[in-house]
Amino acid sequence: MTYIPTEPRTNPYSLTRSDWEEFLAPIDSRSYRSHQVMKWIYHSRVTDIHQMSNLSKVVRDKLAAITDFRVPEVISEQQSVDGTVKWVVKTISGGAVECVLIPDGSRNTLCVSSQLGCSFDCEFCATGKQGFAGNLTVEDIVGQVVVVHDWLLLQSERGKISNVVFMGMGEPLMNFDAVMSACDIFMDNLAFGISKRRVTISTVGVVPRILDMCSRTEASLAVSLHAPNDTLRNRLVPINRKYPISVLLDACRQYLNSLHDRRIVTIEYTLIQDVNDSEDCARELSLLLRDFRCKVNLIPFNPIRLGKLKRSSDDAIKNFYQILLSQGIMTTTRSTRGEDIDAACGQLMGAFNDKTQRRVRNYTPSLHVSEG
Ligand code: SAH
Repeated sequence: MTYIPTEPRTNPYSLTRSDWEEFLAPIDSRSYRSHQVMKWIYHSRVTDIHQMSNLSKVVRDKLAAITDFRVPEVISEQQSVDGTVKWVVKTISGGAVECVLIPDGSRNTLCVSSQLGCSFDCEFCATGKQGFAGNLTVEDIVGQVVVVHDWLLLQSERGKISNVVFMGMGEPLMNFDAVMSACDIFMDNLAFGISKRRVTISTVGVVPRILDMCSRTEASLAVSLHAPNDTLRNRLVPINRKYPISVLLDACRQYLNSLHDRRIVTIEYTLIQDVNDSEDCARELSLLLRDFRCKVNLIPFNPIRLGKLKRSSDDAIKNFYQILLSQGIMTTTRSTRGEDIDAACGQLMGAFNDKTQRRVRNYTPSLHVSEG
C-alpha cells in the first residue's frame, strides 16, 4: 500500500533529537531509529532516505514520503585575501542573509545570521540600518551550517566547522525558539557535535530572553556592551534604556550560575574613535567588570556606508587593551577579517534594495520586548 502524506513535507534540518523522536513515533517508536536517521544525515551526509540501509523498507518509504531536504540556496560566494569566505544565501522562506567562515589556525568559526535584518538600531551597525524583515526558521539557520559544512568537506585540507557564533545578521534572542533548536542541533553528538563552549549566542542585551536561556540551553553567551556606563550605552545601543547595564550584567550572572561550570561571558566592545575609546572609558569598564566572570573582546569599529563614525587608532586600541589588562581584566582584540569583502562585524547588509528597506522600516517593531 502506498503511504500518502496528509501534511506538508517536513524539512529534516528543522528537527532536534527530541523532535525526531516525536516525528518518527507514528512510523517506528524504537528510539534508536532517530539516532540512526540523524547519524545518516549528519555523520554520513546521506540525504536520500532510500539509502539509509539499516532502516526497513517500510520505514524508508514512509519517511521518504513525508520529508524534503532543503537548504538555503547560495546566491554568491566571496573569498577574502585573508581566507575569510562570505556567502549570501537565499533562505527557504525567501530572504537573503549572509554567513561568514573565519578560518584561524585549526579553528573554523562560522558566523551565522538569525534574522532578516534587525530591529535594534544600534548606532554603529549596518544590519540595523536596513530594518527588520522577519525571523529565520530552524532550517534556515541550520542550513547555513550544512551548506558551509558540505563546502568544507569538498576541500579536505580545510577541516570542519569548529565554532558557531550568532554574530551575523539579526538579534538571536528575538528569534528565541528557532535559535535554541538550532543550538541543540549544533551541539548534539548525533548531529554536528560542536562543544557547548564553541556555540556562542551574541546578544544586544535582551534580558528576559537571557533569563529564559537558563532553563533551555548550555550554549555560550556573548554580550554587546560597547560602553562602560548607561549614558553612553543608551546612545549607542538603544535597548539599554529598557534594560540598563546593571540589569543586563545581573541576567548574565544568573545565566552563568545556571551552567554549573566555569564558563565566562564574552563582553563585546567595539572601539569607535572619540566615542568610547578614551582612557577614562577603559578605567570605568575595568571597574564595572571587576567582579564579573568575563573576558572582553575589543572589536575595532568597521566603518559602515554613509556613517560618520571612525575606527579608533591603533594606538588607542593598544592603550585601551593595556589598561584593561593592567586592571586584571582578561582581554583580547579581535583581528578584523574579511574587510575587502564587507564581511567584517556589522558590515553585513544582505541583498536588500531601497524599496524593501523603506517598506520594512514601516513595520519595524519598537524596542518593546515582552517580559515572560
Ligand atoms: N545582535 C547581536 C549580533 C550582532 S553582530 C548582538 O548585538 O550581539 C556581532 C557584533 O558585532 C556585535 O557585538 C555588534 O555590536 C558588533 N558590531 C556591529 N556593527 C559593528 C561595526 N560596524 N564594527 C564593529 N563591530 C560591530
